[in-house]
Amino acid sequence: MQTLSLWGKLSASPTVLVFFFAIREPKTKVQNRMSRIRLLPDIVASQVAAGEVVERPASVVKELIENSIDAGARKIEITIHRGGMSLVRVIDDGCGMDRDDALLSLERHATSKIRSAADLQAVGTLGFRGEALPSITSVSRFRLTTREPNAIAGTEIIVNGGKIDIVRDGGEAPGTQIEVRSLFYNLPARRKFLRSENTESRNIEHQIHLQAIGHPHIAFTLLRDGRLIFQLPATATLGDRIRDLYSVELLERLIQLNGAATRKIQISGFIGQAGLSRQTRAQQLIFVNGRAIESGIITAAIREGYHTALMRGQYPVTFLFLDLDPAAVDVNVHPAKREVRFRDPTAVREAVIRCIQQALESRRTEWQEKFRAPHAAPEPVGTAAKIPSAPHRELPHFQADSGDSGHRSAGFVPPLPVMPGSVAVVGDHGRVQQTIASAEAAPQQFQIIGVLNKLYVLMENADGLVLVDQHAAHERILFEDLRRRMEEQGVPAQKLLLPQTFDLPPRDADWIERNMSTLQKMGIGIESFGPNTFKIDSVPAFLNVSDATQFMRKVTDDLKGASNSSSAMRLGEEVIAKTVCRHAVKANDPLRYPEVEKLIRDLLNCDLPYCCPHGRPTMIQISLAELEKKFGRKT
Ligand code: ADP
Ligand code: MG
Repeated sequence: MQTLSLWGKLSASPTVLVFFFAIREPKTKVQNRMSRIRLLPDIVASQVAAGEVVERPASVVKELIENSIDAGARKIEITIHRGGMSLVRVIDDGCGMDRDDALLSLERHATSKIRSAADLQAVGTLGFRGEALPSITSVSRFRLTTREPNAIAGTEIIVNGGKIDIVRDGGEAPGTQIEVRSLFYNLPARRKFLRSENTESRNIEHQIHLQAIGHPHIAFTLLRDGRLIFQLPATATLGDRIRDLYSVELLERLIQLNGAATRKIQISGFIGQAGLSRQTRAQQLIFVNGRAIESGIITAAIREGYHTALMRGQYPVTFLFLDLDPAAVDVNVHPAKREVRFRDPTAVREAVIRCIQQALESRRTEWQEKFRAPHAAPEPVGTAAKIPSAPHRELPHFQADSGDSGHRSAGFVPPLPVMPGSVAVVGDHGRVQQTIASAEAAPQQFQIIGVLNKLYVLMENADGLVLVDQHAAHERILFEDLRRRMEEQGVPAQKLLLPQTFDLPPRDADWIERNMSTLQKMGIGIESFGPNTFKIDSVPAFLNVSDATQFMRKVTDDLKGASNSSSAMRLGEEVIAKTVCRHAVKANDPLRYPEVEKLIRDLLNCDLPYCCPHGRPTMIQISLAELEKKFGRKT
């Protein structure tokens, strides 16, 4: 307290200030007694704190941008040189500071954002610890210029390694400009931990992406080594910001979340539609009350929400914004404020899962449009005659061994484009244009061209060509069918001729005991038969199980890891997902036309038709525009 009241008087004179810093280093009685315990000098204490707050140049950028945002900036310009190691400069047009505040801002635990411990319960700003500036100044060459909007002059302060060297009038525009040079110049050990300039630059860019996505109404500019990396205008919506920062193409593949999830937790933003994923977590952005955070709970919930819509080893793309009562979130967990603690983590988890599931399923109708034949949309069913592609055209005969293209003489024009490789016979009596009544009120029309390589169903729609992977499609259909049956009355079981008994190690046995009822619902007739011994007398009818004991060992192995925390339902789904694959139409099973047609119709009626239970896409679209490009008709 004493320190604070002194500041007002002392700040006018820089020389006194330097002196003041010197006497603040505690030459206390404690030290005179040669005690073993000493109070650390302030600069050292700041450097210790800096270890946690300022890990790398990206943390400097993060803290400075957060300060600018808290200061109400509408425009933030960031300049970095050599991965931020030689320079980080952040200029904002926020509220600025007067001289006293500017000096005070460099003190440890000096903040304008909270006043009491009670305020910690509901922090409404990004900063609140009062640690960033002193931490940064203690490990760099630091220059601050700041000016309040109506002030005649601003203030410039230069600090080197935590020691204030210059305080004078400055003449910059209103707002605050902070320059951090030679980061960690006085901490060689820390400097050694820095990565290459490129890596550090990328980390910085990631930080700026987070802030830019979190605050679309603020304009951001990034200059890297003299090059303009991006200049984002202030926008009204998150969608616009995503478009400006990434691309329209990305935005088009996102699903907008509808806002409310529960009364207590609102979830908004965008998530990638099924099939859109990345190899890293770099585009999995999560915000809680406007703060970009990392959260194991939410990451796991996102994964769970995507469940079968995500390929193994891939990460979803999310711009997920959770808003909840500030008192229900503790942000004071980590010095870098990267993590938060939820008062009710289960509620958060469930809200996220539900929200993602609903969003993915909401895409279904839109997706079904992809199957609509090019000319089918506006006409009622009876007007097929108007459709240019003659409805009575027969499906083409393709020989399975048509790879021998030498048979085709120069004069022969195939009825339909023939792809390289073998083409399966689809059937010879199917109509090209089929009308089917799907679960939806309006009838759906789709147009099958043929089957390529006994695997890919080729279809035509208004956008161009659609390819459906018949194996993946069948997996999805079986998966949803079995899941529905499991929910309703259980999966049909097939009795074994001879019941078998088998032993398992105690842990596996325990797992089976705990999940017995789910396994039974799955059509696995299993019961205890003494300690660690089981009897199995039936297996799921849809499976081709030759050795029931072997099958059970495998199921236990596959699933015991996956199901620790999840529900019985989920366990069942895992059993199905792991096993349908073996049962589904194989890649090279030739299907006849009615079968292909049924496959497509069934797929259209699935909850998540666009991917197989392992998250691989069931369908890809090649647009006419893409074809035109490939054929050099359009550049
Ligand atoms: P915190 O942000 O946790 O309060 P900091 O050390 O980051 O702590 O900043 C200390 C104080 O300095 C802030 O509380 C704020 O009042 C002031 N400050 C920092 N940066 C700016 C800025 N760009 N514009 C206006 N005020 C700022
Ligand atoms: Mg701060």
